Amino acid sequence: MASQSDIFDVLIIGGGINGAGIARDASGRGLKVALVEAGDFGGATSSASTKLIHGGLRYLEFYEFGLVRKALKEREVLLDIAPHISWPQSFVLPSAPERPDWKLRAGLFLYDHLARRKVVPGSNRIDLRQDRAGRALESHYTHAFRYWDGWVDDARLVIANIADAAARGAYVRSRTRVTTTIWDGSAWTVALSDGTSVAAKTIVNTAGPWAEEVARSVMGRNDAPSLRLVQGSHIVTRRVHLGRDAFMLQQPDGRIIFVLPYEHDFSLIGTTERSIDTPAAAHITEEETDYLIAAVNRYLARPLTLDDIVHRFSGVRPLILEAGGGIRALDAKFSLQYVLARALLDGHVSLAHFEGQAHADARVQAWLPRIEVAAYDDSQFAHSNHFGGAVRLTLDDGTVLEASVEQALGRTSAHPLPQHLLEAKFALCAASVLQADAVEAVAAAVCCGRSIG
Ligand SMILES: Cc1cc2nc3c(=O)[nH]c(=O)nc-3n(C[C@H](O)[C@H](O)[C@H](O)COP(=O)(O)OP(=O)(O)OC[C@H]3O[C@@H](n4cnc5c(N)ncnc54)[C@H](O)[C@@H]3O)c2cc1C
Repeated sequence: MASQSDIFDVLIIGGGINGAGIARDASGRGLKVALVEAGDFGGATSSASTKLIHGGLRYLEFYEFGLVRKALKEREVLLDIAPHISWPQSFVLPSAPERPDWKLRAGLFLYDHLARRKVVPGSNRIDLRQDRAGRALESHYTHAFRYWDGWVDDARLVIANIADAAARGAYVRSRTRVTTTIWDGSAWTVALSDGTSVAAKTIVNTAGPWAEEVARSVMGRNDAPSLRLVQGSHIVTRRVHLGRDAFMLQQPDGRIIFVLPYEHDFSLIGTTERSIDTPAAAHITEEETDYLIAAVNRYLARPLTLDDIVHRFSGVRPLILEAGGGIRALDAKFSLQYVLARALLDGHVSLAHFEGQAHADARVQAWLPRIEVAAYDDSQFAHSNHFGGAVRLTLDDGTVLEASVEQALGRTSAHPLPQHLLEAKFALCAASVLQADAVEAVAAAVCCGRSIG
């Protein structure tokens, strides 16, 4: 494991799933990595989720096909590499007035076919009067669709990533807050709450709901995007049915509520949406509890009461507040591809830096921009040590970005094989073990910190 006196290639602030995944991925690529977490690893949002590895069935309603496809691919990867803490989970989606059956059927058809499935079964229609799942529901729900996603122990996923990062040489610290960072033109000096400091070439801000605070107060980036914090709460109750199915329950307000089998004897029910001002303000309210109970009681044959609740918890989603007041969940439009391409064009990342990392695995390749040499004049190099021409980066959504070869090579390189370099794939990637949300972390890193360079 690296020691505190090293100069790190990457210092990651925040040991939730995004920081943990990036630490694992970057150390696997041979970078010298430090990960610093203020509290317990995975102790914040990353252990307060619904614990689904999902493609995001409901995002299909917003035509986010690219996003869902990527997430479905990642779902397969995760279920495949971490079968000890994750498994396929069936969901019963009762037919209800909120959405017509043809819409559910069309959505599930897409969900089944947008990405290749090996681990997860496809969907089918079920008769609730015959199927065991029907026993949990009021008798007027006569049919439903059964589809599949994944379930994961979210906190253990964080720990597994951190343990693997540490095994690959990462320096990891919990219960240590990053307090200040100073850039001296060549490296960051990062002060920690225990009075010590570390040096790093790059900082990745994966502080989740605290990302804006870290960017502004710790890194002095007043241009960091504003975040809107939205709390989501869950309740844990006595188990509402004996089968292995989870339920996805449509609500009159257009939302959906999940009911999942949880820790053998219980059901996990969530979630809500409530704006809050600071991450510390997150706590489940009585209104949220009542909302969740009422939402499931619309469906359950044996309704729940407040007495059935054994535990409650809340997590916080950070959403970017755009100029003009719009809100953007960090998603495919703000993808890792875009972030990498932009960092390259801005000169923070050079292709030369990624030489030797051409063998990024296939899952990671999917996140990378396509790189082409738009025009390249070899003769210029022979005479002037300058490469002529341009590099074109094409993103999945069709966005095309162009940089000069000089820019792409970090302006300083005199590498004699630009074509070879340009064809090499490159990345500081987070996506190898994560769901699509991994892009949030890297996006935040480039908004708030510096990329490799
Ligand atoms: C209610 C809810 C349900 C969800 N359900 C799902 C789901 O089913 N499936 C799914 O894939 N996703 C789900 N998500 C999303 C998922 O939980 C998040 O995308 C993910 O946990 C975010 O992880 P993170 O690492 O960015 O943030 P966090 O887990 O919050 O980690 C950030 C860390 O930064 C640390 N930190 C802050 N400041 C500092 C500092 N100065 N120095 C050092 N460390 C610092 C904090 O202590 C914290 O541990 C859900 C989210 C919510 C809110």
